Amino acid sequence: MRVLLVEDDRPIADSLRRGLVRYGYEVTWVRTGAEALAAGPADMVLLDLGLPDVDGLDVCRELRARGDVPIIVISARADEVDRVVGLEIGADDYVSKPFGVREVIARMRAVARRVRPPADADAQPPDSLAGGRLVIDRRARRVHVDGAELALSPKEYDLLAFLADAPGAALTREQIMEAVWDPHWFGPTKTLDVHIGALRRKLGDAAVVETVRGVGFRLVAAG
Ligand code: CA
Repeated sequence: MRVLLVEDDRPIADSLRRGLVRYGYEVTWVRTGAEALAAGPADMVLLDLGLPDVDGLDVCRELRARGDVPIIVISARADEVDRVVGLEIGADDYVSKPFGVREVIARMRAVARRVRPPADADAQPPDSLAGGRLVIDRRARRVHVDGAELALSPKEYDLLAFLADAPGAALTREQIMEAVWDPHWFGPTKTLDVHIGALRRKLGDAAVVETVRGVGFRLVAAG
């Protein structure tokens, strides 16, 4: 997915860009409204409102007038958010500074799901990792390794699908528990280790669920 990042604050842009690239997004970074409007086509726009040349709200309106690319506004102040929402300038969602990359990616995924027409979602091809050795068909909730289907429990499937959303990214135990088990999850995470162990055995050497010490896990595709 091609993301146009419009942000004049270099440290924020740098960290966001690094994070997005780590999650497999292709990022074009520009610093001004003029550059944003001159940029090539994108699948998603992350738009800071406080730009050096023009008001980010005008950039948002202009982008919306041109087409239906999803726009997520990055806002520094609560009253800006009020304006975005109140004036209905066409943004699909917003995040407030300070934010984490995970939060931005969660918003992007939610927006992409909302704007993608159902026919398209049906046609979504299976995820292919590890040079095609590991294939995850999210519509059918089936996983194949080297052409053979894995017998996964529902939770094992959910866990693998979540890790495979961001191959190579370190996901914390808390993120995984919240996403796969319970959004309000609180307590021990022993069940996570049990499921990780089962998943490792079943994946064989096609992909490795690495332990990130003191953090959580990441899925690394072999091959
Ligand atoms: Ca700014």
